[in-house]
Amino acid sequence: MAETKSTCCYCGVGCGVVIEHEAGRITSVKGDPDHPANSGRLCTKGATLHLSAAPETQAARALYPELRASRDEPRQRVSWDTALDTAAERFAAIIKEHGPDAVAIYGAGQLLTEDYYVFNKLMKGLIGSNNLDTNSRLCMSSAVAGYKLSLAPTRRPAATRTSPTPAPSSSPAATPPSPTPSPSAASKRPARPGPT
Ligand code: SF4
Repeated sequence: MAETKSTCCYCGVGCGVVIEHEAGRITSVKGDPDHPANSGRLCTKGATLHLSAAPETQAARALYPELRASRDEPRQRVSWDTALDTAAERFAAIIKEHGPDAVAIYGAGQLLTEDYYVFNKLMKGLIGSNNLDTNSRLCMSSAVAGYKLSLAPTRRPAATRTSPTPAPSSSPAATPPSPTPSPSAASKRPARPGPT
């Protein structure tokens, strides 16, 4: 069993993870106790990160570009050049016929800041539309709404806050998931009373 340190790719907190792997397969992921962002803690999404590399997940993952001439035809494997040229041609044809607001880009929360910059430049600077969003906002706003409903708000009670008081967030999407303590960190906490 070998270990490799990396960063959780799911949200902007950027928690440090230690990936355990054997014979080229990821077997588990745990929080990196030396990482300043999370001190060994991971939220539920990060703690299940290794499932994204499970064999059954890999089997369903797109590993190369595919195209289909129409919706009722099966997809065929194509080269990257063919896939990118086709996407560019179709984008250009739609924009020419219907205008720039006829197209949109939906990006992933796993993009890096530089990637966001390039996509914003492409959409707003070159194509001339504001139709650009990512699941950084839409995915996490629904996830955080779910956390609050099923668990509890992550903010501390006002009485325990120290000055300066942080400004309240106006958007649920601005609240990242809170990494939960690793088993070792949790074991140092005082035990909670059980149900009566
Ligand atoms: S808060 Fe959760 S999803 Fe975000 S980086 Fe940390 S472990 Fe990953």
